Amino acid sequence: MTDECIFCRIVAGEAPGDIVYQDERFLAFSDISPQAPTHLLVIPKIHITSFAELTEGQQELAGRLMMIAKNLAEKCGLAKSGYRLVINCGSEGGQVVPHLHLHLIGGRKLGGKLG
Ligand code: AMP
Ligand code: ZN
Repeated sequence: MTDECIFCRIVAGEAPGDIVYQDERFLAFSDISPQAPTHLLVIPKIHITSFAELTEGQQELAGRLMMIAKNLAEKCGLAKSGYRLVINCGSEGGQVVPHLHLHLIGGRKLGGKLG
């Protein structure tokens, strides 16, 4: 937990979040500035600054993060129509919030360009 991190503050209940899923280790909530009808962020509760900071020992965590997104996509009715999972990493990757997060975006036909 870092006091300056907005996502850590959501985890701690110190900042508002529209939480759609949580367990002991993970949290999912609505993006405050949705890019599509469904736009969720899935995060580990522990503060990991970016995808680049993941260690070999955190493979299970990374896999679980993806699996939670998959389950949420199904719950949101997106499994058939399709959706996109995005992890922005670092400044050139477009990462703005320095706490690892996986975007789950869907509910409309998404553009083909990734950058
Ligand atoms: P990224 O560019 O991958 O770092 O994405 C950060 C995302 O976090 C953006 O889509 C923001 O709209 C979203 N965001 C920032 N602050 C909040 C917040 N307090 N609650 C929910 N989503 C947020
Ligand atoms: Zn954090």
